[in-house]
Amino acid sequence: MARTKLPKGGSAALQELCRHGELTRRELQGLLEVSGPTITRVVAHLDELGLVRAAVVGEGSLGRPAAAISLSPDGLGVLAVSLDATSTTMALASLDGTPMKEIEVDVDASVAYDTAIDRLAEGARELLDTARTAFRAVAGVGISFGGAASFAEGRLTTPSGFPTWHGRALAADVRERIGLPTFIDNQPVGHIRAMRWYNDQAMDNRYLCFADWGIAGCSSTGDPRPDRGVSTGGFGHTGGRLSGEAQCWCGLYDCLNTRASLRGLHSWGVRQGIIPEGLHVLEIVTALEADPRGRKALENAAKELVFAGIDACRVLGIQGYILAGSLFEMSEVARTTANDFLEKNKRIVAGSFLPPNLAQRGSMLSAIAIAADGMVLEGRIETMPVHD
Ligand SMILES: [Zn+2]
Repeated sequence: MARTKLPKGGSAALQELCRHGELTRRELQGLLEVSGPTITRVVAHLDELGLVRAAVVGEGSLGRPAAAISLSPDGLGVLAVSLDATSTTMALASLDGTPMKEIEVDVDASVAYDTAIDRLAEGARELLDTARTAFRAVAGVGISFGGAASFAEGRLTTPSGFPTWHGRALAADVRERIGLPTFIDNQPVGHIRAMRWYNDQAMDNRYLCFADWGIAGCSSTGDPRPDRGVSTGGFGHTGGRLSGEAQCWCGLYDCLNTRASLRGLHSWGVRQGIIPEGLHVLEIVTALEADPRGRKALENAAKELVFAGIDACRVLGIQGYILAGSLFEMSEVARTTANDFLEKNKRIVAGSFLPPNLAQRGSMLSAIAIAADGMVLEGRIETMPVHD
């Protein structure tokens, strides 16, 4: 692979094409707020790299043909890794999020760190083999991590569901093994990044309340520059006490994370004898929904999360919040309950679920967006030897 610089304005143009699909030169020019000659130069350069294509769609100004610019399907590929405490999936996708190949990798929080790096590197090599024939270039690797991670430093930060991985430079270690730019961020921040890349509606000024294996929250009003993460703060660990029933890794008992996360609901279900240990996320949800007490627990979790989201918005002065994560994607009970409370409280703060295009492939799209923001930061792509 060869490192190739993107033209100035090139990554911004790619982002607009991801968000809107096809755009005419004039539309692209308007969105990027640049001159006509500049947009012509940027598009020509991206076209030369094989990343975009222009198709004549009708007559433009002065009788010249108008061209619609779109991303080339074989242009830019991305390696995406969705890594959480219970499972890991890797995918090769095009920059617009279209999946090409997906593989399960045997990595979870119980796997030793060095073994995990070996398996991730092996998975990346397999996907890269496919990428060589499918794409002109790759942007890099994005890891959507189910725990706290620093995008800028490429490492895991505060303690999470990965007790033996703390502080490790996961992105740098993968990058060193496979020689591709590699970036990591935690899942909710990855969702915010995905909102910027894949949603054509403005979703600024929202609070994202993320309920998955763990609970986290972050604001979309954070600095939009790709090198800045947005703080997930202590959202998941509010309401904790010094003693109680379920201790969280944050050191407190019965915090929001132990009550409303899938991890917490799983532990609770095991203690109640409703579900066995060692289930995957979807199995946990199914088992809880099959039991009246489990359904009640899911209802309570959803209700608590709606109110925690409202509180976060009030404290931060944010006008609306978004509920995301497996709890709401997989549990009909949690979703229905949350929907009722969203309706009842809509005059206090506007609440909604993640738009379907982002929710369906949530953590994978967030991983792609993490890699895409890494590409913006580095200003370059890796072109494939067969296409050099
Ligand atoms: Zn906690």
